[in-house]
Amino acid sequence: MPEYGDHESTEDPMHVLRHSTAHLLAAAVTELHPDAKYGIGPAVEDGFYYDFDFANPVSESELREIESRMRRIAQADRPFVHETMTRAQAVEEFRKRGQDYKLELIADKVEGDVVSVYRTGEFLDLCRGPHVRSTKELKAFKLQRLAGAYWRGDEKKKQLTRIYGTAWPTQKELDEYLKFLEEAEKRDHKKLGRELKLFQLDERTGQGLVIWLPDGATIRRTLERWIVDEELKRGYRHVITPHLAKLDLYRQSGHWELYHDTMYPPMRFDDGEELELRPMNCPHHILVFETELHSYRDLPLRIAELGQNYRLEKSGELMGMIRVRSFTLNDAHIFCTPDQVIGEVRGALELANYFLGVLGVDDFVYRLSVRDDVKTKWAGTDEEWESAEAMLKEALESLNLPYKVGVGEAAFYGPKIDFQVRDAMRREFTNNTVQVDYQLPKKFGLEYVSEDGSRQRPVMIHRGAFGAFERMTAYLIEHYAGAFPTWLHPVQVVVIPITDAQNDYAHRVSERLVARGLRVEVDSRSERMQRKIRDAQARKVPYMTIAGAREAEADHVNVRDRAGQQTDEALEDFAERVALEVAERRR
Ligand SMILES: [Zn+2]
Ligand SMILES: [Zn+2]
Repeated sequence: MPEYGDHESTEDPMHVLRHSTAHLLAAAVTELHPDAKYGIGPAVEDGFYYDFDFANPVSESELREIESRMRRIAQADRPFVHETMTRAQAVEEFRKRGQDYKLELIADKVEGDVVSVYRTGEFLDLCRGPHVRSTKELKAFKLQRLAGAYWRGDEKKKQLTRIYGTAWPTQKELDEYLKFLEEAEKRDHKKLGRELKLFQLDERTGQGLVIWLPDGATIRRTLERWIVDEELKRGYRHVITPHLAKLDLYRQSGHWELYHDTMYPPMRFDDGEELELRPMNCPHHILVFETELHSYRDLPLRIAELGQNYRLEKSGELMGMIRVRSFTLNDAHIFCTPDQVIGEVRGALELANYFLGVLGVDDFVYRLSVRDDVKTKWAGTDEEWESAEAMLKEALESLNLPYKVGVGEAAFYGPKIDFQVRDAMRREFTNNTVQVDYQLPKKFGLEYVSEDGSRQRPVMIHRGAFGAFERMTAYLIEHYAGAFPTWLHPVQVVVIPITDAQNDYAHRVSERLVARGLRVEVDSRSERMQRKIRDAQARKVPYMTIAGAREAEADHVNVRDRAGQQTDEALEDFAERVALEVAERRR
């Protein structure tokens, strides 16, 4: 059966409800704006949208009016009527209505002579359904916002107005969802990133390029040191390689052919050299492997890097620190013998689980991403794919990790295990991956000397055990709503002298804490103490220590933590317990 634009067919009742509400929206819009042309209107996670071409632009303030028209149609109990037409009839119907976008979809998407449409009162849509029986079943919905969207996602085509909405089976569920959104908005990393001065996006540097401010950079550096140290402990060799490479390197690896749409245009020089900002680190790490002829005794060789990558994401898809054009991956490539693959995959999974566990990332599932039936999409032989898949499965099962299977989600060169994480906004994204690759070693003719002296081809495992620093930091900001665990917080203790007379003591306190490796600030501004406390609370600083005359006398501190607990402690005891909390990376 053909798909008509995004009108995909599914029986999921939530999907049917939301897609039906999209039709209801289009019906209301065309009643209010008879000259509006409608594009596509699919169900999406938690709701739906519909794209319109308005003769006169509409504003957000009109959404309430459209919504009340939707309500009126819903109450009118209009049935969703499924009809089939010949192609000529359908063309006639949509031409009569001036619906050019539907005519284009009929021309491009409909095969054969039978066209499936749905009618709701006067409103007619090109659609395979299914739908609810009547508009009366649509009881709980809300229009949320407007956005620009290019027709068929093509920047060269006309920009339409997309109206987003949400729909639920009951008012109670709708209310709960709106409440959740309100909470989520408070955690939004763009908002908190600004308030807590963690990072900045500045049009003058370019879209999707993150400026890490001092406090954000402190969080990142803390993560980097932890990650690199942990990897060194686990036998990884860390390297530093250039952010660019000759285009030919990416021609050889196949990245250029496959990904040139999201790669920056090459820089061409007078002497004929073409340089490319790297979208991935794999070819560089292959060059590291090739610096000497390895014997089987050198394997597995685990080459790791905090690699900065550049990808030209579409401007409409950029989002805060979540989708950017330059990001740093905790990347590694393991070169090993076929016998070592399962053990290395296990090790990579365990490392990723360790990182996520410490950070408190617990809402995720493992996905074994395999190829689909379209064999031409995937490089390599059936045998290679089957053996790689079996090894990934065995690694997952030997660790008792439950997983789902993602058909068609593999990398072009091999199957992989993805960690599908859900963030505080309930967005799902792939954070960590472990991939088995037979193809790149082939493309570069990689070899090692085996036990019997023969030359053999190593297997390459690509693995991201932490993810991208930009995206993970955004995740952590939202997950903790800015109240990072003490070990990660840019400022762990703020020392507040009660009066100027305690400034000296406050600095002594600070020095003793700094000597324990803690990040400390003394707030000696000439503000009232209450104001200083409020400011530290706004920054979600884990500990405030109030230094008054009595504390100075006794070498004590009056401690207030983020949860509002107050204690009086000897300075050394306090320093000791916070240093321990940090060393253990407690949450
Ligand atoms: Zn439809
Ligand atoms: Zn790679």
